[in-house]
Amino acid sequence: MGYVRGLKCRECGREYPVDPIYVCEFCFGPLEAVYDYKKIKRVMTRKAIEKREKNLWRYKELLPVDGEPQAGLQSGFTPLIRADNLAKEIGLKELYIKDDTVVHPTLSFKDRVVAVALTKAKEFGFDTVACASTGNLAHSVSAHGAKAGFKRFVFIPASLEPSKIVACLVYEPNLVAVDGNYDEVNRLCSEIANKYEWAFVNINIRPFYAEGSKTQGFEIIEQLGWEAPDNVVVPCASGSLLTKIWKSFKEFKEIGILKRLETKVFAAQATGCSPIVVAIKEGSDVIRPVKPNTIAKSLAIGNPADGFYAAQVVRETGGYGEDVSDEEIIKAIKLLARTEGIFAETAGGVTLAATIKLVDSGRIKRDESTVICVTGNGLKTQEALSGHTSSPHYIKPNLASFEEVLKKIGGS
Ligand SMILES: *Cc1c(COP(=O)(O)O)cnc(C)c1O
Repeated sequence: MGYVRGLKCRECGREYPVDPIYVCEFCFGPLEAVYDYKKIKRVMTRKAIEKREKNLWRYKELLPVDGEPQAGLQSGFTPLIRADNLAKEIGLKELYIKDDTVVHPTLSFKDRVVAVALTKAKEFGFDTVACASTGNLAHSVSAHGAKAGFKRFVFIPASLEPSKIVACLVYEPNLVAVDGNYDEVNRLCSEIANKYEWAFVNINIRPFYAEGSKTQGFEIIEQLGWEAPDNVVVPCASGSLLTKIWKSFKEFKEIGILKRLETKVFAAQATGCSPIVVAIKEGSDVIRPVKPNTIAKSLAIGNPADGFYAAQVVRETGGYGEDVSDEEIIKAIKLLARTEGIFAETAGGVTLAATIKLVDSGRIKRDESTVICVTGNGLKTQEALSGHTSSPHYIKPNLASFEEVLKKIGGS
């Protein structure tokens, strides 16, 4: 058996049993999993964790499942890279990249949430899984759902990058491309979820799904030698990842694995879709929905479900938020590739570009330790870079032709 005591409304605190439900019947607040930390404390020690396999299930007591993992056995425990080249370039002393561009089968952090969602969907007895997606979730549900033997319905905005659509279709889900933006897709999916008995990972299974994001935070702490960083910068779409990274840090403190927790949490968004960052900058409690217009499509949620809570975490921890232009996103993608050899998708460009602004404005102190979360692989959004890279040196297949180029470059 697992360690979840039940679900609890984040607004009024009313408690519910573990069921595929996600809103409070009384106040419509979102439901969240609550755990028995006293019991967990007895079994989840640093030593016990260190002995386990290097995947996201090494933190299973703090994940909302009862039995054995049923998906994502190859996901998680991505590298935490000390980024000295990049640190020097942007003027930081101690910089780390949590690199979720690799290891995961579909090359983004969404494999974390889907691993947990599908395991829970099996426990609930569903035979069909579904999602509304800005792209990466579609890949994860299609791939992990195939392996776990689910029927799959995947809903995306029809305007998604062509390469993201192909990378979804290859797993042969029922892919539905909706003539509308993500927020419209999501609204439609809520209606479908009411009518069909499917496990919509980011709707009726959301309280369980969202907990999977905590594994990124757990890994950061473990990989820093069981210490928390001074700053963490997180990209925001719905805002869920940001709130869950903070929850993961607090839980490790609660069960005694982490001694000191004074991390400031920072939010990163694209200017073309920055409802959370705008609220943070205005010091407002209200998230005003926007119509997204940015190359960072994986973050393009105009009406973010967890926006309010994300802004609250940022405020509570003394962090801040920054938004960046499409041009800054592309520059940052190239900087990360050139300095650290990491090819991130547009969301990674958002996070790095926002970090640079936060350092320049003094919100992130140069002598503190900073972790930036790079959440998806650049091979998924290559279109974003077209026309923004240099071109190859074209030559004839002979030495003379090559040496002409070499002379031009100044390499001989
Ligand atoms: C989904 C996603 C995020 C953040 O999602 P939240 O909805 O805020 O949890 C960040 N990066 C990438 C690449 C994503 O696909």
